Amino acid sequence: MTDDLKRLGRTTQTIHAGQHVDPATGAVAPPIVQSSTFAFADCAQGAARFAGEADGYIYTRMGNPTIARLEEAVATLEGGAQGLATGSGMAALCTVAFALLNQGDHLVGTSSVYGPSRVVMERDFSRFGVQSTFVDTSDLEALRAAIRPNTRIVFVETPANPTIVLTDLAAAAEIAHSAGAVLLVDNTFASPILQRPLELGADVVMHSMTKFINGHTDVVAGMIVPRDQAMRRRIKPVHSYLGACMDPHQAWLALRGFKTLALRVRAAQDNARIVAAYLEAHPKVEWVRYPGLASHPQHELAGRQMDGPGSLISFEVKGGVEAGAALLNSVKVMTLAVSLGGVETLIQHPSSMTHAAMKRDDRIAAGITDGLVRVSIGCEDVEDLIADFDRAFAAV
Ligand SMILES: *Cc1c(COP(=O)(O)O)cnc(C)c1O
Repeated sequence: MTDDLKRLGRTTQTIHAGQHVDPATGAVAPPIVQSSTFAFADCAQGAARFAGEADGYIYTRMGNPTIARLEEAVATLEGGAQGLATGSGMAALCTVAFALLNQGDHLVGTSSVYGPSRVVMERDFSRFGVQSTFVDTSDLEALRAAIRPNTRIVFVETPANPTIVLTDLAAAAEIAHSAGAVLLVDNTFASPILQRPLELGADVVMHSMTKFINGHTDVVAGMIVPRDQAMRRRIKPVHSYLGACMDPHQAWLALRGFKTLALRVRAAQDNARIVAAYLEAHPKVEWVRYPGLASHPQHELAGRQMDGPGSLISFEVKGGVEAGAALLNSVKVMTLAVSLGGVETLIQHPSSMTHAAMKRDDRIAAGITDGLVRVSIGCEDVEDLIADFDRAFAAV
């Protein structure tokens, strides 16, 4: 990552970070180095690479030139040390938790995190003696109160999934650090185009690159961005040994998607502002939550901490679950599917889909009501999305 690139705009960075002309062939697009292993010139070189005394690749689970370009690209935008690419977003979370937590340690997380992120802590990490508490981290007093002497990670997702509630990252960093814990931020929903947690004091950022960063609904992938080399050194060995690595072809696809990240995020956001205003004015809509609306409880925080409100909207149709289902069953341009952050608009029902594995009481307490509908606005012509909503609402 060159210093020059750091001074350039975000769109330029997405297009140029991790991109250099291949010295061997002059190829402008990155070569896919589809090799599991790398030859050493001699035994001394192999030994030096294993000892970390010489640069160069050894084995793709430990590092690969195509994957390294992606790790550099995302890290440039986030403003951290070289990333650690993973086979999925869940692998990114599990790798960080495995690296930074010991038996008896405690994690405090946002109550409405991505469903499986909570389930893996409560159901699986608990089997190894790791404790976790999930609270509404938008309430800083609740966050402070949940900290214990053994808290080692504060895990914040903002905007959170699917409630679109925000957490004040600078304040969360201060609370985590004063307790001797690290702040881990899931930045999937905002992407580094709209939010850079490391600049606000976070220690590690993670992504499901399956969403905005890849952006084309054709790859499952994750990324860990440590704030500095010291943090990277704490995570890197576990990343290698846990085997949560990425494949070079997967990295190449994600790198290809990454080049248009800034363009896609802004186009989808332009659409989302229009759709959110449309939904808020709709007589069949009970409520809408979108950080770009003045009605969002943390509209001011969104303006301070984010460079834009993004393209995720949650809302509830009057008439609850049944009315919501009638709407979801009637869309034609939008697709009824989980996931988000792709060029196409996806609409889903969290309480029966992404968050169905959560206990109902926990789900309701986290603000995920039975009738909540989440829509990830894509890059289509917005008139077509509005017409699709009009048609679907007519069926409600
Ligand atoms: C999808 C998602 C994950 C999990 O990522 P995968 O790539 O599906 O493993 C984690 N966090 C958030 C916010 C997500 O949306």
